[in-house]
Amino acid sequence: MEHQRYGYELASGTQQDIFLCIHYISLRVDENISKALPAIHFLTGSDVTSKVGTKPAALKVKPEYIQGLATFGENLSDENCSKAEVFLVQVLKSGSKCMTMNKFRNWMYHHSKSAQISSLPPTSHLLTDHIKRAHLATYQVQHVLDEEAVTLDPLQHGYMKDPTNDSLIPKQDIRIWPEDLIKQCTCKTCSQASCGCKQSGQHCISFCKCTSLQTNKCKNPFLKESELLEAMLN
Ligand SMILES: [Zn+2]
Ligand SMILES: [Zn+2]
Repeated sequence: MEHQRYGYELASGTQQDIFLCIHYISLRVDENISKALPAIHFLTGSDVTSKVGTKPAALKVKPEYIQGLATFGENLSDENCSKAEVFLVQVLKSGSKCMTMNKFRNWMYHHSKSAQISSLPPTSHLLTDHIKRAHLATYQVQHVLDEEAVTLDPLQHGYMKDPTNDSLIPKQDIRIWPEDLIKQCTCKTCSQASCGCKQSGQHCISFCKCTSLQTNKCKNPFLKESELLEAMLN
C-alpha cells in the first residue's frame, strides 16, 4: 500500500508491525521544524556526517535558531553556514550566548570543571567542513525526486579523494596542539615570575585564566593575531 511504502515502521520484527504515514506525522510537527528536519538531522550527525549533538537536544533548541536553518541546503552562503554553527552551539548548550564554536570551546574550557582540551567540541575551522558535508547531504535529500537538480561536487563540500584508492573520504584538516607549546597559565594578573607563559617568554593565549577573566589585568598581555604576527616578524 502507498502509505506503507512511505511510512515509518514501528515495532519492527514483531507480529504486529505498525506503519505510520510520514505525511500524517508531518501535519503534527511544527512547520518550521518540519522544514528544517533534514538540516537538523545531517548537522547533528547521520550515516554520512559526524555526530556533533543528540537529536533530542536538537529538537529542544529555541525556535528562532531552528528557523535560521530554513534555507540550509539551498546554498552555502556565509549566512547559512554561520546560522548552522550557532544552531550547533545551541544543541550543545541551550541558551548559550556564544555565536561561534571557538567562543563556545573557550567558554566550556573555563566554565566546565571536567573539560579537557581533548574533550572540547570541534573548532569553528573543523566545523566548516562538517557543515559543508551536512549541506551536501541536505541538498541531496531535498532534491531526491528532482531529476533536473544540479549534482554538487563532493570535493567542494568537505570531501577529498583517498590517495590510496580514489574513494571519497571526509577532509581531516586537523591542527594538532603543538607538543612544545607550554601549558596555559592559571594566574590572574601574570605579574609574578611564577607565570609559566612569562617564564618561557611566550604570550598568554585565550585559554589562560588571565584572558578568560576579561579584566585586562594581564601583565604578560595576550596579543591579537595581527599583533602576534607583527611581533613574530620583528
Ligand atoms: Zn600567567
Ligand atoms: Zn596572562
